[in-house]
Amino acid sequence: MEKRWDELFIFLCMDIYPSGYTKAQRLNLRRHSAKFSIKEGELFFGNRRAIKTKEEARMLFMEFHCSPSGTHLGIVKTRFAMCSRFYWHGMTIDVDKWVTECDQCKNFGKTLTASEPLESKKKMAVRRLMRAVQVFEFGEPDVLKVHEDVPVPIPGKNQVLIKVHACGINPVETYIRAGVYARKPSLPYIPGSDVSGIIEKLGKDVTSFKIGDRVFATSTVTGGYADYTVSSVDTVYPLPEQLSFKQGAAISVPYFTAYRALFQKAHGKPGETVLVHGASGGVGIAACQIARAYGLTVFGTAGTNDGLDLVLQNGAHQVFNHRENDYIQKIQQATGGQGVNVILEMLANVNLRNDLPLLSVGGRVIIIGSRGPIEINPRDTMAKESSIIGVSLFSATEEDRKEAAAALFAGMEAGWLKPLIGPEYSLENAAQAHVDIIQTGGATGKMIFVI
Ligand code: NAP
Repeated sequence: MEKRWDELFIFLCMDIYPSGYTKAQRLNLRRHSAKFSIKEGELFFGNRRAIKTKEEARMLFMEFHCSPSGTHLGIVKTRFAMCSRFYWHGMTIDVDKWVTECDQCKNFGKTLTASEPLESKKKMAVRRLMRAVQVFEFGEPDVLKVHEDVPVPIPGKNQVLIKVHACGINPVETYIRAGVYARKPSLPYIPGSDVSGIIEKLGKDVTSFKIGDRVFATSTVTGGYADYTVSSVDTVYPLPEQLSFKQGAAISVPYFTAYRALFQKAHGKPGETVLVHGASGGVGIAACQIARAYGLTVFGTAGTNDGLDLVLQNGAHQVFNHRENDYIQKIQQATGGQGVNVILEMLANVNLRNDLPLLSVGGRVIIIGSRGPIEINPRDTMAKESSIIGVSLFSATEEDRKEAAAALFAGMEAGWLKPLIGPEYSLENAAQAHVDIIQTGGATGKMIFVI
């Protein structure tokens, strides 16, 4: 069995070397190949056992073939197509079928036949390369490395290619990189979802955008820490002229999360009081701007004087320093002892125990961020019939997203939605950015890559 895995490995990774690649592409491919290992008779890709069943073989083929970082896209397809019924590991594999199921393959217009491989090789040879931060294994920030020989991805049906000008950096990307997040991407991957830039190429059936449009996206197919990315059109929005590309990269996760927390989870109403507990960062500033525009009384906290000033300038009526010992009492006093109706909590593992007594009757704590466990007294919820509600942007339905987008575009038109940009990084400093977003206090707005 070991030998067969070896054969597949060689087939996928080695046999295709001499087929018209540039030196840079060959090097990238070799790095990719190095991720394969055989342990106790099973094929591993990075830390992940790669294949045992036919379905897993199909997945590997798709992963290899369509990987945004793979340099061997068309060639693997060509080779597979040339021997379209590939007998491997006692299974007959109908590779032609896989190829026709594959969106990337469809981008080439049709399934290749044995007579066409040269044509495909020519197409591959002219593909442009780009810089991108690729993660080949989960781990510490230093797994974030810039590669300069990553092929520019090709937009598929209902997708667009965006020349990225800026990309937001979100804490969740550090959890994913570390491999501790519930959803793990297949390795290797390019992190990042919140891009802004200019549409460079349209995939099939795209009518809602044209080349040259300024846009921002709430998600990418191929990763945003890169010179170029592909996004589905349903996650791409026009970027209004009054907002810069940097601001465009600060809209997606922060504003959609803040809106979801305030209205779709807390059901906040004009006249209510909201405490944005951690208001100086990406989500916090967004929450202050939105809540103020919707007629809530806004309290915000930050850990530095600079942060407090920025929170005041971005919608808060009153600010409190969450590093002071008595700030909770100060907030309670500011409500006249009535408590706050809604708390948007960025660090629940530190604050939840103090949040519950701070609430009004019928108050709601919305857990946006938490980095560990905390002990609370459930009785603190009883007399006031208060609620603790979690929020996950990833759980938003299409309808939720449309509602949020409509509200946020109204904010852009009216001018109250103005993302505040904090520290800026280059792709080369991605590892430092991941250290800073978790370890460095004193947030001053949204952290971004300028590309
Ligand atoms: P960020 O830009 O790094 O901001 C972090 C914020 O937390 C800053 O305002 C910081 O204030 C504040 N903070 C630090 N110590 C605090 C404390 N003891 N009490 C209260 N606040 C404190 O991060 P972000 O992008 O705004 O995200 C905030 C959290 O929400 C992260 O944990 C993130 O993972 C999570 N999040 C969750 C979702 C979801 O769907 N649930 C979506 C987006 C983000 P100072 O630096 O001024 O001290």
